[in-house]
Amino acid sequence: MKKTIRDFDLKDKKVIIRVDFNVPIKDGLITDDNRVVESLETINYAINNSAKVILMSHLGRVKEESDKAKNTLKLVSLRLSELLNKEVIFIPQTRGIELEKAISNLKSGDVLLMENTRYEDLDGEKESNNDLELAKYWANLGDIYINDAFGTSHRSHASNVGLASLLPNGVGFLIEKELKVLASSIDNPIRPLTVILGGAKVSDKIGVIKNLVNKADYILIGGGMAFTFLKAQGIEVGKSLVDLDNLDFCREMLEKHEDKLILPIDVIASHEMSDNSDYRETFITDLKSDEMGLDIGSQTIKVFKQYLVDSQTIIWNGPVGAFEYSNFANGTKALCEILANLEAITILGGGDTASAAINFGYKEAFTHISTGGGASLELLEGKTLSGIDIIHNK
Ligand code: AMP
Repeated sequence: MKKTIRDFDLKDKKVIIRVDFNVPIKDGLITDDNRVVESLETINYAINNSAKVILMSHLGRVKEESDKAKNTLKLVSLRLSELLNKEVIFIPQTRGIELEKAISNLKSGDVLLMENTRYEDLDGEKESNNDLELAKYWANLGDIYINDAFGTSHRSHASNVGLASLLPNGVGFLIEKELKVLASSIDNPIRPLTVILGGAKVSDKIGVIKNLVNKADYILIGGGMAFTFLKAQGIEVGKSLVDLDNLDFCREMLEKHEDKLILPIDVIASHEMSDNSDYRETFITDLKSDEMGLDIGSQTIKVFKQYLVDSQTIIWNGPVGAFEYSNFANGTKALCEILANLEAITILGGGDTASAAINFGYKEAFTHISTGGGASLELLEGKTLSGIDIIHNK
């Protein structure tokens, strides 16, 4: 068991909390603040226990000077302040006198957010390469380190692995929840356990399929990745996405686990992936050579539903269609709607699918929506996460 924030006396201590405020921003607005909302429990706990709270997060990628303005955390500090109903001291620096002074002036219960940790990437990718000098500088700013950034925990950065190696440490409530929900659903599920896999490429999901094919009762496959499986069965899939390098893998999986892997029987077909393209619903076997399958069809939704209504635990990773386009979003929406009406434990892996489900209005429909796309994928692959591994055990 990992140490948690509850294992420390936080009173009057400078507590560095690594949160994941890497939120999508469009036209100066946060389009999904789920990650900020999910961090509140840990931050409020630290405030209520009289800590001097120092928050760190990355936002986007900072490769050149011009990336800074669009990736400042200023906007997030304003949203956080609203959600906490409390002043958040925002320091537009990742190091320097202004930051050091602000930290030494903190009173117990105050909250400070420093600028995007990846501003440090401009000078030799110090944050992303877990630079020791940077980690030491940041460690000197605090007394205790709490990692609650689940979405970054599969990476080894100065602000997670670096800091944890230098300070007394623990995890926050969000990481605790993510691990509990995801790990117990994979390793000790209430059965039947059904996994829905989608997304573009088979290659991204090979590790997940290998790990889960022996743990899940059923794997429902949609999205672009389904077509490599269908082609492996000898079905002509027209211009649909096919990953030729992984045809053999798909064939082998189908031979060994035919009864577990459930593939689409019909699709929404079109000549192009756009909001304005003509489209039609067709059985896979009638797909024309110049068409591509861009969403699952209504018969497939019915078949998937039969498995889902009988399941006690459902884990979903990856959209079952090109949901960014309104013509091809129906399958992903329909599955959200089916899951919303089930009593089962329903877990949605993070990333784009999570944002889509929230934007479609299904935030409350799931037992848990993970805040980590890559991190939840690695857990589904059966890997351990370096940002959590480094945290001391109790
Ligand atoms: P991933 O990042 O692997 O989860 O993939 C997400 C992407 O897969 C989204 O951008 C979808 O548009 C895309 N996608 C889903 N279904 C299809 C499909 N049938 N054909 C092409 N792309 C798809």
